[in-house]
Amino acid sequence: MTIRSVLIANRGEIAVRIIRAAKALGLHTVQVYSQADADSLAVRLADEAVEIGAPAARKSYLNVEAVLAAAKAKAVDAVHPGYGFLSENADFAEAVTAAGMVFVGPSAEAIRLLGDKVAARKVAKEAGVPTVPGSDGRVADAGEARAIVERIGLPVMIKAAAGGGGRGIRIVADMEEFERQFPQASAEAAAAFGDGGLYIEKVIERARHVEVQILGDGRNFVHCFERECSLQRRRQKVWEEAPAFGLTPSLRDKLCASAVALAKAVGYSGAGTVEYLYDEAAGAFYFIEVNTRIQVEHPVTEMVTGIDLVQEMLRIAGGAPLSVRQEDVAISGHAIECRINAEDPFRDFMPWPGTVEKLSVPEGHGIRFDTLLYGGYAVPPFYDSLLGKLIVHGADRADCLSRLRTALAKLEIQGIPTTIPLHVALAADADVAGGRFHTRFLEGWLETAFAARSGDKEVAR
Ligand code: ADP
Ligand code: ADP
Ligand code: MG
Repeated sequence: MTIRSVLIANRGEIAVRIIRAAKALGLHTVQVYSQADADSLAVRLADEAVEIGAPAARKSYLNVEAVLAAAKAKAVDAVHPGYGFLSENADFAEAVTAAGMVFVGPSAEAIRLLGDKVAARKVAKEAGVPTVPGSDGRVADAGEARAIVERIGLPVMIKAAAGGGGRGIRIVADMEEFERQFPQASAEAAAAFGDGGLYIEKVIERARHVEVQILGDGRNFVHCFERECSLQRRRQKVWEEAPAFGLTPSLRDKLCASAVALAKAVGYSGAGTVEYLYDEAAGAFYFIEVNTRIQVEHPVTEMVTGIDLVQEMLRIAGGAPLSVRQEDVAISGHAIECRINAEDPFRDFMPWPGTVEKLSVPEGHGIRFDTLLYGGYAVPPFYDSLLGKLIVHGADRADCLSRLRTALAKLEIQGIPTTIPLHVALAADADVAGGRFHTRFLEGWLETAFAARSGDKEVAR
């Protein structure tokens, strides 16, 4: 089946991104929006827009009935869920399909299987992908969990099987803490995700987060190499790169092949990401989870491979086979993405919505700014604080960093505080330039290197 129209069941920069890809393919675009988003860039860019409810996400973007009703009313052929919201909701995918439309993503079964982080670990193991030492499945109770901790050793992570977006994870350093945290973690997971299921993983210290982009059409599966996403705050990515630096060719081959093996094992369709922790000292990598959707940081992969991942998702949804063979996918140069959020980095990243008085965006070869902003736009307070992503491509990592510094200096968002100063500081940092960081690097760095700089900044104000 070929598709002619698509409903975008999301908001923000990713909605804008999907509209651009859909238009490039000649598709008719229908944007849903909440009462807080009537003035959004996505609504302005789409061919048509449908209001679906109150500002609170559970009344609009998370409201399956409302989104489906809009899709049916406009008789669209397909629904693209973006990331977050309903993108990894298997029931939603199923409902879209049952209503005779195409869900732009993998099958509901694949989402169900891989979205459950415990089930996904099992699939990975069976596909021969190394996983982080930990529980075999969900832990039934504190007693079983305790026995596992005694076997694998502290520190451990207590993780919610249904967790995501950096939520539902607790680090535990000693047994006393473990006894206290375990019951809390279960209650919290039940409340937050409607599923109290927990599993245990050993903490891989000083690891890097490396992930592999996969594409599948149900029959053929390819990888588009890997991304490095270790610069994180509260387990949420802040800065991402492609490719990951410091991997030997043989390790890169093994890593990417393991992601393709996993895609094959479930007959994957669409774009997805297999996430790993990479222990550089041991030269080992461990599977952590699969995201069955487009990811925030997908543009760095697009910059180095030249593949438009969102167009590819739409083509696959329309029934076309993958447009690339593995041997056609190659890396050229290096790309870095900075997530620009409406948060004040000098006030503990307090979210700070408001009106953008002036917007100046850097331009030129190898520079891309994916955003929901336009001059005069009032950022609503109800959603994720991501305003945009600055993505820069260079001949190699050093060239990319140098271009990034120039681009950041030209990016101006006036009227609200943003995380631009954080990125300026990161792009100037010697350890970042030297690739000397891991997933917990930013924690300490924010308290030392950045605090020192922000001290200067406070004085300068
Ligand atoms: P990526 O994996 O693409 O880097 P993030 O982890 O930043 O993306 O998540 C993308 C968006 O999806 C964020 O807005 C995040 O808060 C949201 N998100 C992801 N998983 C969940 C979940 N299980 N529950 C709620 N929000 C989620
Ligand atoms: P989410 O579903 O919220 O994205 P992940 O399981 O992908 O959760 O983990 C998010 C982040 O938490 C990782 O990128 C990494 O920084 C950290 N993390 C997760 N598991 C481990 C582990 N076993 N050891 C060390 N760090 C981990
Ligand atoms: Mg993750």
